[in-house]
Amino acid sequence: MSVLKSFIAGQWVGEKPAKALPSAVNGEIVAHTHDDTLDFKNAVEYGRRVGGKNLMAMDFQERALALKAMALYLQEHKKELYALSMHTGSTKGDNGIDIDGGFGTLFSYASMGRRELPSGNVVHEGPVTPLGKNNHFAGTHILVPRGGVAVHIDAYNFPVWGMLEKFAPTFLAGMPSIVKPATSTCYVTELAVRLMQESGALPEGSLQLIIGSTGDLFDHLEEQDVVTFTGSAATARKLRNHPNIINRSIPFNAEADSLNSAILAPDVTPEHEEFDVFVKEIRREMTAKAGQKCTAIRRIFVPKDQVNAVCDKLKEQLSKITVGDPSVEGVRMGALASIDQLEDVKANIQELLKTSELVVGGEGNFKATGDGTEKGAFIEPHLLLCRNPESGCGAHDIEAFGPVATVIPYDTVEDAVELCSKGRGSLVTTLTTRDPAIAGRVAPLLAAFHGRLHLLDAEAAKESTGHGSPLPMLKHGGPGRAGGGEELGGIRAVHHYLQRTAIQGSPSMLAAVTREYVRGADLIETDVHPFRRHFEDLQINESLLTHRRTVTEADIVNFGCLSGDHFYMHFDEIAARDSQFGKRIAHGYFVLSAAAGLFVYPGEGPVLANYGLDTLRFIEPVAPGDTIRARLTCKRKIDQGRTSPDGHPQGVVVWDVQVHNQNDEMVASYDILTLVAKKPE
Ligand code: NDP
Repeated sequence: MSVLKSFIAGQWVGEKPAKALPSAVNGEIVAHTHDDTLDFKNAVEYGRRVGGKNLMAMDFQERALALKAMALYLQEHKKELYALSMHTGSTKGDNGIDIDGGFGTLFSYASMGRRELPSGNVVHEGPVTPLGKNNHFAGTHILVPRGGVAVHIDAYNFPVWGMLEKFAPTFLAGMPSIVKPATSTCYVTELAVRLMQESGALPEGSLQLIIGSTGDLFDHLEEQDVVTFTGSAATARKLRNHPNIINRSIPFNAEADSLNSAILAPDVTPEHEEFDVFVKEIRREMTAKAGQKCTAIRRIFVPKDQVNAVCDKLKEQLSKITVGDPSVEGVRMGALASIDQLEDVKANIQELLKTSELVVGGEGNFKATGDGTEKGAFIEPHLLLCRNPESGCGAHDIEAFGPVATVIPYDTVEDAVELCSKGRGSLVTTLTTRDPAIAGRVAPLLAAFHGRLHLLDAEAAKESTGHGSPLPMLKHGGPGRAGGGEELGGIRAVHHYLQRTAIQGSPSMLAAVTREYVRGADLIETDVHPFRRHFEDLQINESLLTHRRTVTEADIVNFGCLSGDHFYMHFDEIAARDSQFGKRIAHGYFVLSAAAGLFVYPGEGPVLANYGLDTLRFIEPVAPGDTIRARLTCKRKIDQGRTSPDGHPQGVVVWDVQVHNQNDEMVASYDILTLVAKKPE
């Protein structure tokens, strides 16, 4: 008899069987939870002490690399996860969303971390704001790891992705995680955690797993900890009101059930490609994961005169869906995750039917495909129609967490927005229209009560990732009933696990804290040109003040001829005299090029390439007769552990460049991004 184990304080714990977990497909027991009592006080202390310490021994860049290593290892063992996950009722396509989607999230955070986070464990969130008249006192913000543990409680529908989308940004931030998957599908999460453990990329204490109840865990949480939750609004309410969460102001992020929508705009009729795209999207959302997605479409808003056309088309499409054992060839929709969930969905359909009629579904002759499926948690797609939403519509309140959606007619698109808002805050709505003017008018109205909007037309449909897909780079979560929380959204998700702190002080102090050059900080100037230093030897604040150059009319003419830029400001004496500058001025790009000519070290050296500019501003005009000089200062160093194509280790160096004129006025300001070689071994 297989007993699942928790992974607590570095040990796999669990001998005695407790709850039997049946397969959603045929009712056979897949595994048991364990009955052993867990020491949660020890778990959180171990997380902070051992996990926190090990994570802090790495930096953002190293943790990003570790995420990638875990993702690669998991990918090698994908088949094992797929095989086990079939018992949750998931088809191959569903597993793609959960399992490959989970790996994809790890890969995404690995690459976002490498690209967007610094070396070290301090994120500088600029800009630096001068707070005194003479730049002796300034302020900025830093983000640092919180030092506590993150408790992640997940729903049953995505046992892999659900865990990984929370774990990835937490790990990158340097915070240990304690994950608690929903019991009904926790056997898949247990396998994923075992594989992550086996990968060798997971520092000790950085991930713990709870199988079963959270016991007195919440009593042991402290101010530096964080809780995130995905599941029902009722549980979210209960947990966020736990006295210890309230008393210690512990951040609590919730993503709860949501009544998401699809709106067919009045400009789309059955002759348009968009009509088919709309219907296809609904069919996909109703049947993927058997409708058990927090983002699935529950309400379908359709112009009154299109109701019959939409219902007919959906009826036709849904009738082609074969429901049954996911391992049987041709099966398109699997089971709900458990018999309990099936009973829940059936009860909710009965509630919905108090204000709606049935278009597709009903007990009838439904029989799931495959042997033993009579003991499984199968249900066919149910399409409902609420003809008179003005006299009440249960679909605005009741979430049947399965393949169930309700068509709701509307008069004008503004009415559709009004009806949509009755969901009291949703994760996502798809608006299908051919008319950008409708999208432009309606999307801002919808945005006020949504976490995400998916604007669907024939063009977007060619590449759309779909209504229901939360993407690592975009925010997931929604206001009000959807939980009021936020997950993902690129590197912002990492910020949820970092403490943002304002720092005030002299520029030199700010530079020391942010590990970045801050204008006004003490400079390091030596006889060695900074471009001659290898990555390791270069110091932040190391600086070069160049010789001067007087700009001439010949420079302007030569640059104009070379670049082909004969803009009147540089070449038309009369027009330039009438302009705000009152005279001809040099091209901004000339100033940029001239500055490079002033500061580069021309010989071969460790600076390998210039790959771009950031924050470029031309501040004052430069005219013939003006004399410019540049200051180049090492601003930031990032060690991404990269090597050049020919195998030489290198790092990223960002340089602050300021160009001044003869009156000491700044004429141009920017950062240049370079690749600098490390010392030969
Ligand atoms: P629940 O809210 O019951 O459970 C969600 C998670 O919370 C599970 O891990 C569960 O563990 C845990 N949990 C429940 N009670 C407690 C508690 N007192 N203390 C600590 N943890 C607790 O939701 P379900 O997953 O059962 O789904 C029910 C409904 O939630 C669905 O029908 C749907 O409406 C909604 N839902 C929303 C999702 C979303 O992403 N927004 C996703 C999935 C579901 P355990 O399983 O051990 O009870």
